[in-house]
Amino acid sequence: MGDNIDVLVHEVGPRDGLQSIKTIFPTQAKLDWIKSEAAAGVPQIQVGSFVRPDLLPQMADTAEVVRQSLEIPDLTVAVLVPNLKGAQNAILSGAHQIGVVMSVSQAHNKSNINRTIAESLEDFRKIIEYRNQVDPERKTVISGGLATSFGCTISGPAPVRDVMWQAEQLLKLGADRLSIADTVGFANPRQVKDLFDELYRTIGKDVPVGAHFHDTRGLGLANAFAALEAGVRELDSCLGGLGGCPYAPGASGNIVTEDLVFMLESGGMKTGIDLDALMETRELMIHHLNGEPTQGTFVTAGPPLGFVAASNAA
Ligand SMILES: [Zn+2]
Repeated sequence: MGDNIDVLVHEVGPRDGLQSIKTIFPTQAKLDWIKSEAAAGVPQIQVGSFVRPDLLPQMADTAEVVRQSLEIPDLTVAVLVPNLKGAQNAILSGAHQIGVVMSVSQAHNKSNINRTIAESLEDFRKIIEYRNQVDPERKTVISGGLATSFGCTISGPAPVRDVMWQAEQLLKLGADRLSIADTVGFANPRQVKDLFDELYRTIGKDVPVGAHFHDTRGLGLANAFAALEAGVRELDSCLGGLGGCPYAPGASGNIVTEDLVFMLESGGMKTGIDLDALMETRELMIHHLNGEPTQGTFVTAGPPLGFVAASNAA
């Protein structure tokens, strides 16, 4: 994390946002967006995912997007992968951070990536082994991602003990960090605080932990705040809340980056992000969107009178 940052905002729009909309972004449009958002001060961007191009044509150019993103100064280039094959491609691409995703719900894991949890954990073991082989200095950060950590549309609420067990397994296998995701917008703030409190009791405070929330039922930012209260210092978000929810047409998707940055900066937490520049990036992204819906309230209301961003305060 940067020296002068209290909370790391991890933009996931070029992956999570784009993967759930119809408009195909040309490679150059993705790169314009990524460069502009990095210039606004966003320290980490998930630029794509290594998945089969026939399953997700929007992500077919991920290797090229990574290659060019790696030239952007001071940007941590992150990608997402569902399995060993994707992880191998991601490691070879030179991406700085690789999120390996699996679900806490057995049924969701099966329907999302066609694997049992045991198979996903075995993949994870091989991914760490492969990373250590080709990258003995272990510079590539491998993040263990737990989707549906609060519940899912197939299995209902996720038992906390299942999340703890899986988190411990990932760390035993060599995960450098964890990402806890409310993949389909199940969580409420009390549940979030309780889960992260329990997680830190279980794994200690030394492992970096990120959180990923959706705003499906309007609780996204409240959940992000609850995670902050529990000690989380890395949050995923999506510029313009791009992406929606594949299970609920019209529903909001990921929490909105600009609204999150406003919440953090107005509350005295430095993100290193310039909100004015971020809003220009939003315009640039919308230019390519072909009328796809976006979310967010900061864009309409603007900053309140007297607002001083923590990052700009003396
Ligand atoms: Zn998401």
